[in-house]
Amino acid sequence: MKKIKLILALLTLVVFIAACGNDEAVESGKLQVVATNSILADMIKNVAGDNIELHSIVPVGTDPHQYEVLPADIEKSTDSDVIFYNGLNLETGGDGWFVNLMETSKKIEGEDYFSTSEGVQPMFLTSAGQESEQDPHAWLDISNGIQYVKNITEVLMEKDPDNKADYQNNSDAYIEKLTALDTKAKKEFEDIPEDQKLLVTSEGAFKYFSAAYGVTGDYIWEINTDSQGTPEQMSTIIDTIRESKVPSLFVETSVDNRSMQSVSKETGVPIYETLFTDSVAKEGENGDSYYDMMEWNLTKIHEGLNK
Ligand SMILES: [Zn+2]
Repeated sequence: MKKIKLILALLTLVVFIAACGNDEAVESGKLQVVATNSILADMIKNVAGDNIELHSIVPVGTDPHQYEVLPADIEKSTDSDVIFYNGLNLETGGDGWFVNLMETSKKIEGEDYFSTSEGVQPMFLTSAGQESEQDPHAWLDISNGIQYVKNITEVLMEKDPDNKADYQNNSDAYIEKLTALDTKAKKEFEDIPEDQKLLVTSEGAFKYFSAAYGVTGDYIWEINTDSQGTPEQMSTIIDTIRESKVPSLFVETSVDNRSMQSVSKETGVPIYETLFTDSVAKEGENGDSYYDMMEWNLTKIHEGLNK
């Protein structure tokens, strides 16, 4: 009997502690926001500042196409006031990890969770049989990134009208900064010789980027959700590189770099730099914000292709 009483007492304590934990999160009074990845989280921080509490799901340096949801993500999503995801076929690996998370967390699209890419003109995959699938990497063209920021701003202002003016001011200043970088890059890219304007990366993440900054994007595999670095994919890109005068190759931080190393060895074209595609850099390192990762990518690609 004593034992049962003890167990009951312990159970009560556990329930009590759990309830306290929940209350604490809500008691800060701040809007509880969740983002699927570090790039969106950084955009949100730039607009919201200290007015919100933010949880970013996919860790820095990790691929957001595929993700194994943790209990903490379910808890944060369930307790959140608003959730931002990329959309455009990004968070669709593992049978749609994001949609599954939203179902588990009982969240509704357009009420609780929002696509930051709303209003962006989608580009599509080109591999045979995948032509109807959207390419998610819209943020690598800064003008699309600005559209993301506008969408984020609108939702935050609606969810938290008390801080509306703050969100609007931060957003305006941030967009001005991004616009200046975009304009400068477009001008700078004009001086790359035509037969060197080939941007080779592991994943074909640079479709939107290539269209915006006037280069041709090529890759080993088209999207991280597919098989990566098959012999056929390897020989196709090696042939393309041999036919071009491209002086440099690139590899992304959030992929396994061994395939690109083989391509480099096979063609004799060096890997010039590591680029950021699906994640910002670790805090304190070069590229640890959306602005900085774009500035890094633009500078390094411009240097590498101009060699
Ligand atoms: Zn990707």
